[in-house]
Amino acid sequence: MLRLEDVSAAYRGLRALQGVSLEVARGEIVAVVGANGAGKSTLLKSIAGQVATEGAIEFEGQSLRRLPAHRITRLGVSMVPEGRRLFPRLSVEDNLRLGAYARRGADRFKPLELVFALFPRLAERLSQRAETLSGGEQQMLAIGRALMTQPRFLMLDEPSQGIMPRLVDDILAAVTRIRDLGVTVLLVEQRLVEALAIADRAYVLQTGRIVLSGLASDIAADDAVRRAYLGI
Ligand code: ATP
Repeated sequence: MLRLEDVSAAYRGLRALQGVSLEVARGEIVAVVGANGAGKSTLLKSIAGQVATEGAIEFEGQSLRRLPAHRITRLGVSMVPEGRRLFPRLSVEDNLRLGAYARRGADRFKPLELVFALFPRLAERLSQRAETLSGGEQQMLAIGRALMTQPRFLMLDEPSQGIMPRLVDDILAAVTRIRDLGVTVLLVEQRLVEALAIADRAYVLQTGRIVLSGLASDIAADDAVRRAYLGI
């Protein structure tokens, strides 16, 4: 479904990604893991059209490079950004509705039902301002907003960040449910054990390069790999 080949990206000369190649097949959860500054967010932003890149990025056979971000969203690619980036003063409902901004047609708000089924807490807090939600609820809202674009491919950038451990499992369980509903997932996570537990395959990113890839279960089980790359 998604293919990157030899993708590089730089910020004013600083190379954040170097020769990254990866693939995601329809129906998979693929995790990208690595230390702070490894380039994980840059990788997701490259796919979403938020940073300039070299190399090939194809979604369902179509090149995404040089497409503006809103066109990439319309193709069915959506991202839950690091730090959630909600509209803090707007209500839960308005944050969700804004997720459907780029869509047209009578059914544009239809995904609300799905969002409320996944995250009943949001349905109970519709008129509450986003800034008054807990960290976990804010993450649910950010995921819900991304689902309002009706994506076929969902990218999540560290959804467990700033969340109580008890809710991390809820969030990651929701990611699995989203995949089971037919949405392919590319997940960036610092919580390696939890991310590898729900992923089918994983890539390890280190200073902008893929240093390892394979079945998530193999990577999670390999002690040498865990010590060398994952700091466990
Ligand atoms: P984290 O887990 O801390 O978010 P990351 O793996 O997502 O890290 P990136 O955020 O992609 O890593 O950053 C990769 C490199 O690019 C780092 O050296 C970072 O300092 C640098 N970088 C990221 N964004 C910018 C920017 N807007 N301008 C300049 N340098 C940047």
